[in-house]
Amino acid sequence: MTGKRRILIVGGGTAGWLTAAYLARALGSAVDIVLLESPDIATVGVGEGTFPTIRETLRFLGIDEAAFVREAGATFKQGVRFRDWLQAPADDHRHSYFHPFEPPFAGDGANLIPHWLAQDAGARPSFAEAVTIQNRVADAGRAPKQAGEGDFEGPLNYAYHFDAVRMAAVLADRARELGVVHVAGRVLDVVLDGGGSIARLDTEAGALTADLFIDCTGFRAELIGRALGSPIHSVADQLFTDRALTCKLPYDRADAPIESATIATAHAAGWIWDIGLAGARGIGCVYSSRHMDDDNAAAVLADYLGPRAEDVSPRLLRFQAGWRERQWIGNCVAVGLAGGFLEPLESTGVVLIEAAAGMIAELFPHHGPVDLPAGRFNDLMTARYARIVDFLKLHYCLSRRSEPFWRDNADPASIPASLKALLDQWRYRPPSRFDFAREVESFAFFNYQYILYGMEFRTDLPDGRGDAAEAERQFARIRSFGDRASRDLPSHRALVEQMSRAA
Ligand code: FAD
Repeated sequence: MTGKRRILIVGGGTAGWLTAAYLARALGSAVDIVLLESPDIATVGVGEGTFPTIRETLRFLGIDEAAFVREAGATFKQGVRFRDWLQAPADDHRHSYFHPFEPPFAGDGANLIPHWLAQDAGARPSFAEAVTIQNRVADAGRAPKQAGEGDFEGPLNYAYHFDAVRMAAVLADRARELGVVHVAGRVLDVVLDGGGSIARLDTEAGALTADLFIDCTGFRAELIGRALGSPIHSVADQLFTDRALTCKLPYDRADAPIESATIATAHAAGWIWDIGLAGARGIGCVYSSRHMDDDNAAAVLADYLGPRAEDVSPRLLRFQAGWRERQWIGNCVAVGLAGGFLEPLESTGVVLIEAAAGMIAELFPHHGPVDLPAGRFNDLMTARYARIVDFLKLHYCLSRRSEPFWRDNADPASIPASLKALLDQWRYRPPSRFDFAREVESFAFFNYQYILYGMEFRTDLPDGRGDAAEAERQFARIRSFGDRASRDLPSHRALVEQMSRAA
């Protein structure tokens, strides 16, 4: 019998603490886990939106939902409301569509999509409104569940918005409870052995060794980047945004309604996120520095904020869309921003952390060479990033806006070949579950359907598929369920306040 393996996680942002708690929970006392973080290097501190996978993660970690809502300042997210992505706003018209987390209604085996496609495009309700009640519930300012429902459960699918700094603290508390040892100190030097692996870290807290080093040092990528030299595979020629100006805006009144969807409003060279947190709105102007300079982005943000722009001082964050070509090298694996980042759209940062932590836990070799899973891990993470690029690009490339940023996004040369191939097929049939391989996919076929049809993409199907009268009955049921749910579910603010009090 050899001794227990030791895992050293470097970095105390969302990536570090989520990975620490996850591995401690999954691997239990079979490993020793230490997390080192520098108190002097701030975390990125944004990352307010999530995807419904987070519920399964929090449940797995054994976190209480009401306590989480209170301590992370969390609110409920039912999807993303996109404004002005198809067309720039005109005096008489503003285009908007919803990407709900709830799949299209498929009760009684109904497939409503062909019937929605067959309806008159000028007269039918939007796709999301026709096939799910979530559009209406979110628009009515209602929550996706009642307070008494079980932890992480409800009639409608949901994720959260939260304060990223407070979220890291919640995860840190749980990780410590699960046995993770926390060490404060900065990495001063990464000492390599002769074979390209890490021999030890020289830190302010002394020399530290481990069997596996997990780099969660954010964009600094101290281990995987600076020490091991894994280059970044850039996809900046496909996803153009590379900067964000972020701020927090307090609500006008203490009882102001809280949106339970991210509002994503397009502008001339990117988009603005607007997130309803418990105590304030989190707002960020995302843009491409190739298409807009910082002063103009500040003006776009100020215009969005209106007269209250004077009360905030936005913070500038730079990023580039891409990922490390090899995220696991020898005895080092990167998780979070150290491994890669695409852009804030659709909140894939935490999704990628969850995927990486889950894979490390399941592939972890308790004996033998620690780099045995490296090849598989790198292949799966690379494929996952590439699949997300397709999904994000879909939001941009169907736009009919005329500004250079949007024209460049619609240029076929900027569209990945894999997405082009799917779009060719989707002209003749809707996105299907057979389009995607689950192990590497963060989004399901219906997420693609919501974006595609929200952006008014045309799929030509022959008439005469299925029972049209039955489909009409189903559409009517969805409308009446939607009316009832919008009356019966509590307001979003009421649920957040009630759960915060209950904890
Ligand atoms: P960081 O938060 O940067 O943490 C790095 C840690 O490493 C810190 O604790 C630091 O002290 C430590 N460290 C660094 N160097 C050293 C050293 N030498 N020695 C010791 N410790 C060190 N994700 C989402 O899911 N949803 C979103 O809506 C979203 N929006 C985003 C918007 C923007 C503009 C950006 C840039 C990112 C966004 N993300 C989002 C991504 C999300 O912020 C990150 O995935 C998440 O915060 C994880 O960051 P991290 O832990 O990898 O890095």
